[in-house]
Amino acid sequence: MATTERAIASAEAHSAHNYHPLPVVVASADGAWMTDVEGRRFLDMLAGYSALNFGHGNRRLIDAAKAQLDRVTLTSRAFHHDRFADFCTQLAELCGMEMVLPMNTGAEAVETAVKTARKWGYRRKGVPDGAARIIVAADNFHGRTTTIISFSTDEEARADYGPYTPGFDIVPYGDLAALEAAMTDNTVAVLLEPIQGEAGVLVPPPGYLSGVRELTRDRNVLFIADEIQSGLGRTGKTFASEHEGVVPDMYVLGKALGGGVVPVSAVVSSAEILGVFRPGEHGSTFGGNPLACAVGLEVVAMLRTGEYQQRAAELGDHLHHELGLMTTGGAVEAVRGRGLWAGVDIAPSYGTGREISEKLMGRGVLVKDTHGSTIRIAPPLVISKEDLDWGLEQLGAVLTR
Ligand SMILES: *Cc1c(COP(=O)(O)O)cnc(C)c1O
Repeated sequence: MATTERAIASAEAHSAHNYHPLPVVVASADGAWMTDVEGRRFLDMLAGYSALNFGHGNRRLIDAAKAQLDRVTLTSRAFHHDRFADFCTQLAELCGMEMVLPMNTGAEAVETAVKTARKWGYRRKGVPDGAARIIVAADNFHGRTTTIISFSTDEEARADYGPYTPGFDIVPYGDLAALEAAMTDNTVAVLLEPIQGEAGVLVPPPGYLSGVRELTRDRNVLFIADEIQSGLGRTGKTFASEHEGVVPDMYVLGKALGGGVVPVSAVVSSAEILGVFRPGEHGSTFGGNPLACAVGLEVVAMLRTGEYQQRAAELGDHLHHELGLMTTGGAVEAVRGRGLWAGVDIAPSYGTGREISEKLMGRGVLVKDTHGSTIRIAPPLVISKEDLDWGLEQLGAVLTR
């Protein structure tokens, strides 16, 4: 049996089947390219769902991590450490906010946002104990914890995990009137992805995010933007909310914040809002650890210059122009997205998203399907224009018959 087949058979025998990966076994990676155990090279057009915005093995991030590995990696929050204040200060500044609450994974940061909003509702807004409600959008993806899947509309993500956490109202994404109608005096927050990633890179109609901002401000409701996938350069701006000139009350960050090196997530907000926490009321053993802060600090420094955002904007224009041309052939039914991020609906007669992904893999390009016949394209922001064009050529080849 070949090396690849052996590795996959062994993984299938000894790991839970909660994923269905493409049949490639990666052994090393650099920039936008990955090499498998048999020496074949693949262009990474997924970038770890945007966790790898700065590419594989980014020198600055690896150096920052290595330097920190030799100093101190973990203290727990029982003690201060010398990277913590800098990380929180500089991340808050990048976000135009005041305070940071660091966690590890995206789902933990979303949980933190939910807890923050509820506590804020009881302590500041005066909502009766136990009555706080949070409005979310249909087709959302905010993570995999029991509470988060409680307000998912994806049956696959929800089934068999009840009883579900109450306190959430689900409205159609992009529908401002429905959101307004769902608001009550007990609404403490609206939690949204500024662009819905897992749902197929859905960009809301113009005016939606700014409308949500206005509504939430008028009704003393917190606007929580889950920018875990859309933020930190992906769309051509630091935050996708910026495309509508919107500043939410709270950013939820993750994925690229850890530079593809370690899991780093955070809730970033005002002192008034994050000030609701007192010692012992929330926490994480690994949250804000020295290694995470050292890498996160370097990520923030890289984003401060704007060069990655600009790169995503320029290459993104090119990507969307090229994908737009493909819609005339009939194989591509629709293209959505912003910056270096696209959801591409393939005509079902050309195959499912999975089949297209497997064909692309055969040509050395790695992407991931979402629902049905949609594939999502999100290469590292460091990809060269030549490599991007080569990847798109392979897509074109897969879609000709
Ligand atoms: C990936 C993602 C999450 C969950 O992050 P994990 O690190 O996988 O827990 C939450 N929200 C959005 C928008 C995401 O893309």
